[in-house]
Amino acid sequence: PDTTKLVKLIANLGYGSRREVARMFREGRITDAAGEVLYADDRVAHAEVRVDGEPLDPPQGLVLLLHKPVGYTCSTRDPGRIAHDLLPPRFRLRAPLLSTVGRLDRDTSGALLLTDDGALLHRIVSPKAKLSKVYEATLAQDLRGDEAAIFASGTLLLESEDTPLAPAILEVVDPRHARLALTEGRYHQVRRMFAAVGNHVQALHRSRIGGLGLGELAPGAWRELDAADIEALF
Ligand code: URA
Repeated sequence: PDTTKLVKLIANLGYGSRREVARMFREGRITDAAGEVLYADDRVAHAEVRVDGEPLDPPQGLVLLLHKPVGYTCSTRDPGRIAHDLLPPRFRLRAPLLSTVGRLDRDTSGALLLTDDGALLHRIVSPKAKLSKVYEATLAQDLRGDEAAIFASGTLLLESEDTPLAPAILEVVDPRHARLALTEGRYHQVRRMFAAVGNHVQALHRSRIGGLGLGELAPGAWRELDAADIEALF
């Protein structure tokens, strides 16, 4: 079983402060799967614990895939709605916190990972991982025809930067729609890349991160990733 005392485990999952969770124990609200009342100092396997008869929220090591809708930001420092607002309220109170893995702009929709696993987060965002991220862009002007070669060249410089972008793969869907696969994640990168070739991104959606797509996830919906999903990422 988990070696953490139950009171700490349950408080860290966002159910309340240690004092509040201790009270829940005294009230007999925390039981095992058979309904036997548990005590704050007990050490019981996570899967066996019930709060008001319900299984505990997932343990630490949580990885979520969220279909972020337009209109939500990735930073708690920004005003307005944040991606975390789409998760169960208790997920915002967990320790460690769930962090977004990289960022999507407020106006960008699509695949966003969140995790409390710092090591995994670093593995995903590390430039060494070269994880490809696929974006679907809707453009204000027709594509000229030379964009794929420019993006693939590995020489494109964005305004006010002095390191050229790594090669990126552009697939033309139709004159106003393109699919772009990147292995970097610079600030507003896709929007700035199209600006560099005289275009303007009207709508942007991230459809894949590594080997993982959104599948049937509707905008605003999320699912927990399992070990096989995480393997599929890399
Ligand atoms: N590039 C952008 O311009 N915006 C995003 O949200 C992601 C990539």
